[in-house]
Amino acid sequence: MYKDRSTATEGRTGASKSELGTLRDPSDRKRINDALDKHLHLEKSPPSTSKGLNGRLSIPSTSAGRRAPGDSRNASALDKTNYAEDVEDSDTDSEESDVSGSDGDDTSWISWFCNLRGNEFFCEVDDEYIQDDFNLCGLSSQVPYYDYALDLILDVESSNDDILTEEQNELVESAAEMLYGLIHVRYILTSKGMNAMLEKYKNTDFGRCPRVYCSGQPCLPVGQSDIPRTSTVKIYCPKCEDVYYPRSKYQGNTDGAYFGTTFPHLFLMTYAHIKPSRPMQSYVPKIFGFKIHKSAR
Ligand SMILES: [Zn+2]
Repeated sequence: MYKDRSTATEGRTGASKSELGTLRDPSDRKRINDALDKHLHLEKSPPSTSKGLNGRLSIPSTSAGRRAPGDSRNASALDKTNYAEDVEDSDTDSEESDVSGSDGDDTSWISWFCNLRGNEFFCEVDDEYIQDDFNLCGLSSQVPYYDYALDLILDVESSNDDILTEEQNELVESAAEMLYGLIHVRYILTSKGMNAMLEKYKNTDFGRCPRVYCSGQPCLPVGQSDIPRTSTVKIYCPKCEDVYYPRSKYQGNTDGAYFGTTFPHLFLMTYAHIKPSRPMQSYVPKIFGFKIHKSAR
């Protein structure tokens, strides 16, 4: 389902990217658009009719929202002409949207986002934390479409009557992801957030150290910079105290600034009891069983 995501998100961390540039898998986009349409146009159209609409269509979302369920065949036909490479998915998409439409109603944006493939490192930030303006101080100037993005994250039905174009919808999606990431990096330094990350650490959600003599030590996520769009997330091994690329290429596309440079170290100071001791062994290169002499290196 998310097979195209890795290529689509390659540009995510490119520093030269002027806009947010977080191109997602079309099916991700569709769900976010559905969610957005739902809260923008709820009064105009019942939710059931908007479930079948496809966010990839280049028609205004209002007219798509009024589309009768029977018209979904037209929608997928239009898809096929515009997105030839998606032909195989078009039929399953319309079926999936019927199924996933129901969980869209009771699943929050946050838990949906955290369950996306590649987003396993994120914990779910408490609604309460996000609703407190103090915690979001300074973010409105960093994130475009801030109010829309915040409403999307909190599943708030906006009273705003503005009609967003598809392009704007995409920007809102990207903005929501960025805003969530920038809230997340703050949240995981609070006691509640750290506790949520402790649970994930216990589940080995962040993967294990690939170094043989670390014997599968569970790792923690870390950023190499606190500035967004600088570098992707890495994993930090508390045992050998080094950083590595995440094993999954999907996780490897996530911005490191959504985890920050501080988190694993403050985490290990807070939960000192889980900090492992330094590894006793280290690798010794040998030739025919003999250690290599210093002078030969
Ligand atoms: Zn290690």
